[in-house]
Amino acid sequence: MKKNCEVCNQSFEPEPGYYFGAMFISYGLNTALFIAIWVGLELFYSEYSLTLLLVLISISAILLLPLFFRISRSLWIAIFIPYRAKEPSNQS
Ligand SMILES: [Zn+2]
Repeated sequence: MKKNCEVCNQSFEPEPGYYFGAMFISYGLNTALFIAIWVGLELFYSEYSLTLLLVLISISAILLLPLFFRISRSLWIAIFIPYRAKEPSNQS
């Protein structure tokens, strides 16, 4: 992860522990993933066992960990720091 935005120089680590709250977004993403797997199994393979469900959830959660980690942090900073496009130059 870069320290500052290349466009507007916004710091990506405004204070220590800034991304603590991203944990809750990660929790939400994982819950959505678990529900999606469960509903998918119910729909397409209703004879599934609890073991299969747990194995599928574990594997997908581990595989998606790096992705969810980054998405959570991106969403977290996007909630609190408004997006601004590159400042228009004043020399018009
Ligand atoms: Zn920026």
